[in-house]
Amino acid sequence: MATALVAAAGSGERLSAGVPKALAPLAGRPMVAWCLAALSEATTIESAVIAAPPGHEERLAEIAAEAAPSLRTEVVPGGPTRSESVANALRVQGGAEALVVHDAARPLATADLFDRCVERLAGWRCDCVAAAARAVDTIKEADAGGRVIATLERAQLWVVQTPQVFRSASLARALSEGDLSRASDDAQLVEAVGGDVRLVEAPRHNLKVTTPLDVRIAELLLAERG
Ligand code: C5P
Repeated sequence: MATALVAAAGSGERLSAGVPKALAPLAGRPMVAWCLAALSEATTIESAVIAAPPGHEERLAEIAAEAAPSLRTEVVPGGPTRSESVANALRVQGGAEALVVHDAARPLATADLFDRCVERLAGWRCDCVAAAARAVDTIKEADAGGRVIATLERAQLWVVQTPQVFRSASLARALSEGDLSRASDDAQLVEAVGGDVRLVEAPRHNLKVTTPLDVRIAELLLAERG
């Protein structure tokens, strides 16, 4: 059975909700409640450590008790960057072999997606399995002035999401050796130490809520799911 490490400590400045992003209301619940409910439905996950915005630990514990009663949960204060929040959660996890890192800002992740990623990690015996959607836009690389350097081959491009599921030892090594202040996900820290990272195709609608527009889209999608 796996343990989830939930990164929920971001300030959410781009959302301007007046509260940390994980606590911002989304379709009638605090945003973080949606992924906690899905994690508690996943059959491969038995516990979760939540990295909370410092000062909001108690509120996070209340939300977890209500949204995910069947999940054993613990709350720790987050760090100054996303990877440092994940590292804080990793420090207290109870020795699970597989760790499911998930961003609270992705409320549309389903129990089925969590289970698929955990099962693939076991089947492929790799270091990390990351959920990702195939790129639908043409992606160009450009310099700081906007001058195009290259047009990347779209067939090989994926937009990476969370969940990202790790062998516990691989994540611990990557976090202890990597530059946590610069990483935008944890899979890249595993790549940096030569780890075997593979992708599992996930729906594009497992979106990351960043701006007020994303809140509106996420609420429509949640309402459709019923
Ligand atoms: O800022 P960004 O949208 O990339 O954050 C992705 C996820 O990382 C969010 O769920 C956010 O709460 C979390 N985070 C964190 N600790 C930080 C910064 C972000 O747990 N210091």
